[in-house]
Amino acid sequence: LWVTFEGGDGSGKTTQAALLQDWLETQGRTVVRTREPGGTEVGVLIRDIVLHHRGDIAPRAEALLYAADRAHHIETLVRPALARGEVVIQDRYLDSSVAYQGAGRVLDADEIRNLSLWATDGALPHVTVLLDLDPADARERLDADDKPFDRLEAEKAEFHARVREAYLALAAAEPGRFVVLDATLPVEEIAAAVRERVGRTL
Ligand code: C5P
Ligand code: MG
Repeated sequence: LWVTFEGGDGSGKTTQAALLQDWLETQGRTVVRTREPGGTEVGVLIRDIVLHHRGDIAPRAEALLYAADRAHHIETLVRPALARGEVVIQDRYLDSSVAYQGAGRVLDADEIRNLSLWATDGALPHVTVLLDLDPADARERLDADDKPFDRLEAEKAEFHARVREAYLALAAAEPGRFVVLDATLPVEEIAAAVRERVGRTL
């Protein structure tokens, strides 16, 4: 079973991924929790480039770097874990690229998706949880958390609005894979909805 979490910065992906891992492990499942970008040693290097040079990498180069991270991550970590029968819980995957590199940087959404599918030889998760959050609410949350550097400041408000719309469009196009949850709900309520959805696929 392969579950991905998607949503804007500050939407609670990491928190929910950890709660889902705890729940699955109490059921005796072996869980691999990972993330993009940076789920592997090579990926950490790529993460460093894309995050420290955001805004000043040519958009197509940025898209290729995310795709390279993804290709290596899926081949060396995710596919082997799935082949062993383990559960993979992943913070961000190709939908992030369609939303950020596609809608955010204004590249063609289908081209970005196809690039990712080429990179991973067509790998798609069984369940994708989209934590939907208004970028204004996200900003408040990240400020409240006193994050070391304000990740939302790197791009303009319109960028994050486009990202959110793109995510919602992706979810609407693939209702079988996606579950969309309101990220402003209490953490435990969201976790219960995630368990319900994942439990149906287990
Ligand atoms: O989810 P995480 O905090 O690790 O993401 C790091 C940053 O990389 C986020 O601020 C996100 O906006 C950005 N990102 C991106 N394109 C992706 C994935 C992440 O711009 N495909
Ligand atoms: Mg996170």
